[in-house]
Amino acid sequence: MSNAVNDGAGDLKYRRVVLKLSGEALAGDAKFGIAPPVVDRLTDEIRALHEMGVSLGLVIGGGNIVRGALQSAQGMDRVSADYMGMLATVINALAVQDLLDRKGVDTRVMTAIRMEALAEPYIRRRALRHLEKGRVVLFAGGTGNPYFSTDTAAVLRAIEVHADVLIKATKVKGVYTADPVADPDAEFIPRLSFQDVLTRELRVMDAAAVSLCKDNALPIIVLNINNPGAMAAALRGAEMGTLVS
Ligand code: UDP
Repeated sequence: MSNAVNDGAGDLKYRRVVLKLSGEALAGDAKFGIAPPVVDRLTDEIRALHEMGVSLGLVIGGGNIVRGALQSAQGMDRVSADYMGMLATVINALAVQDLLDRKGVDTRVMTAIRMEALAEPYIRRRALRHLEKGRVVLFAGGTGNPYFSTDTAAVLRAIEVHADVLIKATKVKGVYTADPVADPDAEFIPRLSFQDVLTRELRVMDAAAVSLCKDNALPIIVLNINNPGAMAAALRGAEMGTLVS
């Protein structure tokens, strides 16, 4: 697997990718916790990308376990709640790593908060080395700072490792004019500029994350993670979901 980065990667439009999955993506219909069949399906998709030769980093949220803003609204100190949220992302990363390992994908979890007994500390040069060796790197612990989100963490890591694109996985086709689940008149938008997202306050990612993409010209593809093969097609250059650039 160590030379996987070169295998069949010639037909890729984007070779290095950071994939952002929300914590809820691991929970399935339950919305809380980790649903093994859901993680099984997700890791099949991730393995397929790895086998295509994609150089892949993963950032997984923690919203299926703890959301800092919600806990603090219920009376907890915001900073403590955010640290709990960051720990939740580590739990999720370990669950995904376990299944990827069992599927023969070489992985490393790197944490923004040191916890060497279970994962490596995040060191950029080491992360680059893992990616060059064809390992899937799971960036856990968010940015390591309270008041940030894992969306921002995903953009930060993507820029740091020189990713060609950030894939933001959602449950719908891409970006709409309104929430398509709640509003039948919501219209799908295939392409957007960063500025459009910011001024129209479209819910792609939080504004801090979108601004960071804009400042560093990192394109975002928002697509449906439940559409099998969508990520692979997008990385080969097919129009999938919404492209923000
Ligand atoms: N979090 C944080 N700093 C970070 C990333 C995450 O404090 O850099 C905390 C924050 O409380 C957040 C929680 O971790 O609510 C879970 O992350 P997020 O809400 O981004 O997860 P997702 O919605 O993607 O599941």
